Amino acid sequence: MDTLPTVLLKPGSADRVIAGHPWIYAGSLLRLTAPAAEGALVQIKDHRQRFLGVGFYNSKSKIQVRVLSSERVEVDAQFFVERIRAALAVRRRHLPNASSFRVVNAESDFLSGLIVDKYGDVLVAQISSLGMDQRKPLIVAALQAIFSPRAIVERSEASFRKFEGLAESNGVLNGSMEGLQPIEINGLKFEVNIPGGHKTGLYLDQQKNYQLVADLIHGGHVLDCFSFLGGFALHCARAGATHVHGLDQSEDAVAAATRHAQVNGLAEKCSFETANVFDWLKAQTAVKPHEKVVPKFEAIILDPPSFTRTRAAIGDAMRGYKEIHLRALKLLKTGGTLATFCCSHHVSAEMFQAIIEEAAFDARRILRRVATFSQSPDHPILPAVPETEYLKGFAFEVAR
Ligand code: SAH
Repeated sequence: MDTLPTVLLKPGSADRVIAGHPWIYAGSLLRLTAPAAEGALVQIKDHRQRFLGVGFYNSKSKIQVRVLSSERVEVDAQFFVERIRAALAVRRRHLPNASSFRVVNAESDFLSGLIVDKYGDVLVAQISSLGMDQRKPLIVAALQAIFSPRAIVERSEASFRKFEGLAESNGVLNGSMEGLQPIEINGLKFEVNIPGGHKTGLYLDQQKNYQLVADLIHGGHVLDCFSFLGGFALHCARAGATHVHGLDQSEDAVAAATRHAQVNGLAEKCSFETANVFDWLKAQTAVKPHEKVVPKFEAIILDPPSFTRTRAAIGDAMRGYKEIHLRALKLLKTGGTLATFCCSHHVSAEMFQAIIEEAAFDARRILRRVATFSQSPDHPILPAVPETEYLKGFAFEVAR
């Protein structure tokens, strides 16, 4: 282990590593004591030569070292087995009844560059760092040993990998996988298009929130905006909504959600429509001068995609959030419930609530906050690694 090349950090750069942040940027490096191969394991020391840990090196990435451990570990098959088992134990503790969940959430589980989702008996891996990519066979062997899955599928999208000098990589790594994968979320049936779906197939991060939002439904008409596969819609229908209408701009998503309603025996209570939510809400809230919008819904869910992936685009994103909230609040009956989510890391919960308050002011409604939401516990948040926190949500009742 002492033969590992050593990365020396600049004075002042060690504390972040000691606090548990696994990313070491180029600007924090003092020098390498010996040449390191791209993707190789290196040891990390502060400028006084004090050992801080080991990690993967990549000179081509802005993140030059991804710390794996504060100890001198061997990164072999056993390492991955232990790390993945530790991550699995967290899920078993916090989501004891789930059969589909995120098994490994990269930095949240001390495996920067690796995400593994479990959809029933199929695993989906997303590899976004060079160090992890080079160890794909070890990762596959570890997953095989722990889960004996029917298939392990890779869905490594170009968007993250290009920063590490890697090309997109998709395919079945092990076993066989064809067509749609049937899964259950909180006892409801869904089918996931693993090779072609959003993210790695379905938004597992909302698993807990589906039920928490459904618990707030007491009959009435529900509007599920950005409904995708129908996660919120079906949970609300099962919870006793009179009717749920879902909106999504993707025809495929609308077709899938419609199918899911049928499979779960909820077709009579659900309808799904292909529409741009902005246009749809605008059309519903368009009135002649001196006319008032007639509120139609007992509950509205807003779960849009991230309106901004960068800090620079926050202004536009906030305008988008304000618009949908303003129109949704006009369509909600007094006493009705607004459940709303924001999955952009760059928009804090405080900023998100502030924009909702602005919308409420403009709509002349007063809100009562009845719940706050976060990402499901299979997407653990480490306060030491702020990037691990991204999903926030609230439920408000329209007090008047
Ligand atoms: N609530 C969903 C996740 C929503 S993801 C769930 O829990 O699974 C965002 C969805 O919004 C995607 O399905 C995407 O097709 C859709 N979408 C994005 N922009 C849209 C728009 N302007 N109007 C309608 N749907 C949109």
